[in-house]
Amino acid sequence: MSAFYHRCRYLFLPLFFTGLSLILFQLSQSKFQAWQETLVELPYWLLSIVTLIAIQFNRSRLAYLAILLLAYYVCITEPRLTIEGLNQYSDLLLLGGALTITWFAFIKDRGLLSSHTLVRTIGIILCFAAAFGWIWANLHYRTQLDNFLPALISHEIRLFIPLYLCALLVLLRGIWSSNLISTAILMTLLLWGGHFLLPNPLPISVSMSALAIIYLLTVLTESYFLAYRDELTGLASRRALYNLVLSLGRKYSVAMLDIDHFKKFNDTYGHDVGDQVLKLVASKIAEVTGGGKAFRYGGEEFTIVFSRKDTSSVWAHLEGVRESIEEYDIVLRDEKRKKQTKAKRAQAQSKSGKKTVSVTISIGVADHQHGENFDQTMKNADLALYRPKQKGRNQICI
Ligand code: GH3
Ligand code: MG
Ligand code: MG
Repeated sequence: MSAFYHRCRYLFLPLFFTGLSLILFQLSQSKFQAWQETLVELPYWLLSIVTLIAIQFNRSRLAYLAILLLAYYVCITEPRLTIEGLNQYSDLLLLGGALTITWFAFIKDRGLLSSHTLVRTIGIILCFAAAFGWIWANLHYRTQLDNFLPALISHEIRLFIPLYLCALLVLLRGIWSSNLISTAILMTLLLWGGHFLLPNPLPISVSMSALAIIYLLTVLTESYFLAYRDELTGLASRRALYNLVLSLGRKYSVAMLDIDHFKKFNDTYGHDVGDQVLKLVASKIAEVTGGGKAFRYGGEEFTIVFSRKDTSSVWAHLEGVRESIEEYDIVLRDEKRKKQTKAKRAQAQSKSGKKTVSVTISIGVADHQHGENFDQTMKNADLALYRPKQKGRNQICI
């Protein structure tokens, strides 16, 4: 998966669709008048549900954020609990919240009920203390700062400098890590800032409901990927393969791919380099053309399923995969090379002067026959794989 594709999928598209839905909501707010009471109630339910689900799935950062948002929402909407004059603390809430959200973007998920809870609670208090300190210093030294700093930086701008820095940091974090949790945290910061700063912000019930839905989708999508994606290579897993089988018709072909002499490769270069090569080989296999769907079957074995195709029509596509891997000079990362002996390093010298290695794969392919189930077709592809292994490897056999 290219980095750009990854970023589109995990950062730009979620941001775009959330932004679009909220703008559409804002434009058609009058249509939702009748739903006003339900909308006010909604965040209570959604944020509570998402907290429980996030705890269940060990997504503690989202659970913390959902709890904090819920606490804030209760304070401003529940008449019996409404804290008098909460408005006058809006700068503190905005900056303290922004610092907390930013901090959450950079820490790891840990068990919610563990020793980390105390550290995190102290961390949140410190974020608000830092925000308080900043606001106090800005008010206390206002005249000195006004004289000292250029007129361009007014008091209001100065006050919110931490917020701009937070937004920049969380945005960079989102771009750098491009995963859904970082994107959800970025959206939290944007909506949190928007709630306090925009002249005509979204109703708080809508921002809170939107965040709860984003958290819910994040937790569920991440769990889906955990179950159906292979962690090392990013390819679909064997579980996903058996899911696909349910939707296959009568006509399909299955190819089993196996890296040649991979045990020897691991013994020569080490397991870490082996993993690195597995990832790169998988990325080439994922680029298979002709509508083939690639899976990591296990170890250094991969499966490609071509729906509504037979071996004669998939041959060229498999040949394409085999060739692309054969021709691929894999550049080794320096820290891995350090572990190699001098002789092995010399062996991997390429034309460009960089240290490279290459591997080949063998492929066995079989068509689904009338009356067979998927496992039998797979077995036939696996049997077909023995042939190239006996005939010198780096080829395809039926
Ligand atoms: P052949 O050409 O006959 O397939 O030889 P081979 O050495 O590839 O065959 P075999 O199936 O015996 O060896 C597979 C090796 O793949 C064993 C193991 O060291 C390696 N392997 C399996 N899974 C992984 C993995 O996740 N990472 C790494 N680095 N190596 C793996
Ligand atoms: Mg094998
Ligand atoms: Mg092998």
